[in-house]
Amino acid sequence: MRNILNPPLHLGLAEAFRRAGFRKWYERELLSSHAHLVLAFLSLVAVFAALEASRDGGPAERLVNLVYVLLSAAIGAWALRRYLFLLTRAEGVANQAQCESCGEYGRFKVVAPHGGSDEAEVCCRRCQHHWVISGLA
Ligand SMILES: [Zn+2]
Repeated sequence: MRNILNPPLHLGLAEAFRRAGFRKWYERELLSSHAHLVLAFLSLVAVFAALEASRDGGPAERLVNLVYVLLSAAIGAWALRRYLFLLTRAEGVANQAQCESCGEYGRFKVVAPHGGSDEAEVCCRRCQHHWVISGLA
């Protein structure tokens, strides 16, 4: 319950796989990335709404609407960047989730963190083959 209310900002891949498993981690990354895409779209709508609202009104209202436009554009740019980051990282990790020895996909256990926090040494559940999955690719 504590983790749901107060999630850590960034877990290493090994810890994330240990907690949720690869398939759940992948599903959550895709959901999170697409939530950021929705936020980017809503920000775009907000930019156009603020532009439309700035057509009428005095200089003070135009200035306020300009601030709304800039703020919405900044949030949209951040959300789009985050969407692309999460999606490409999830796809990069998913491309490494297949055992090179027996071809089993996504069924492995974490042996240890490897190098940086975004790498994990994993072991195939079927054939015990070891390999390293990197989230940096
Ligand atoms: Zn295997």
